[in-house]
Amino acid sequence: MHQIIAPIITNNEVRPGIYHMRIESAGMAASARPGQYVMITCDRGLERLLRRPISIHRTWEGGLEFLYAAVGNGTQWLSQRKAGENLDVLGPLGKGFVINSSSKNLLLVAGGIGIAPLVYLAEKAVESGKNVTLLAGARTTNQLCILPMLPERIKYKAATEDGSTGYKGMVTALLPEFKDLADQIFICGPLPMLKAVALNYAEQLRDKSVQVSLEVRMGCGLGFCYACTIKTRQGLKQVCKDGPVFEMSDVSWSDFGMK
Ligand SMILES: Cc1cc2nc3c(=O)[nH]c(=O)nc-3n(C[C@H](O)[C@H](O)[C@H](O)COP(=O)(O)OP(=O)(O)OC[C@H]3O[C@@H](n4cnc5c(N)ncnc54)[C@H](O)[C@@H]3O)c2cc1C
Repeated sequence: MHQIIAPIITNNEVRPGIYHMRIESAGMAASARPGQYVMITCDRGLERLLRRPISIHRTWEGGLEFLYAAVGNGTQWLSQRKAGENLDVLGPLGKGFVINSSSKNLLLVAGGIGIAPLVYLAEKAVESGKNVTLLAGARTTNQLCILPMLPERIKYKAATEDGSTGYKGMVTALLPEFKDLADQIFICGPLPMLKAVALNYAEQLRDKSVQVSLEVRMGCGLGFCYACTIKTRQGLKQVCKDGPVFEMSDVSWSDFGMK
């Protein structure tokens, strides 16, 4: 884990309210794994005290890429940063996704900006010879920004709530069609989506390894403040250091506070 002051290389709005940022940090790039995240200081007075967690969206030998939605003070501040400015970044943090060596076919399910860490996972998985299918859901076509940029070997299917691209409805409705071909399933999206999968598909996915990446409010990112504590079958866990990736069946969904 590093705490660095990293130069911003690019920071562009790729779709309304969605930004793609590249920062320079060869050290973080070398040690990062899919599913890990960084904590970024978003400097606005008191906002500075609480870093914001952002997933590692991609790496290259010189640094990291992020894909983020500007939803509040911190991420809006981030969206206004320019190339050449510096960012205070802590990471890579947390435990990421685990691909079993015996798995050949991986199914990835992304809800909205939850696609950010799954692209990193998908790219690493195809590099190591796995077959990857990505189901990507968004409210409307405009938010499906990343799909055309994926390497050809990643198959994908889109779902939009307004039906403007692909399947009309929630991306999770595609699970029954695709789950049987998958040796492992990886899901990232808003908590209500994850909870809906856990509660509605528990029986159908009983024999599958399903890993979910939890987007919960975090404080420190280091396991000191207990702001992100959740209940699991193995007792209380902190999403920041024990996760953000958990086996879906380990999480105690009915106790999970929904925002
Ligand atoms: C491990 C992890 C990885 C993440 N990766 C990404 C990513 O790659 N791209 C991305 O766009 N976002 C990601 N998020 C969510 C991101 O951290 C929040 O959107 C951000 O902290 C909001 O800060 P803010 O100051 O802009 O908004 P705030 O003013 O703090 O909040 C604005 C809105 O966002 C909601 N929110 C705040 N914090 C979170 C949170 N941690 N998770 C979900 N909703 C939140 C609030 O409830 C509120 O509705 C990730 C979260 C976690 C825990």
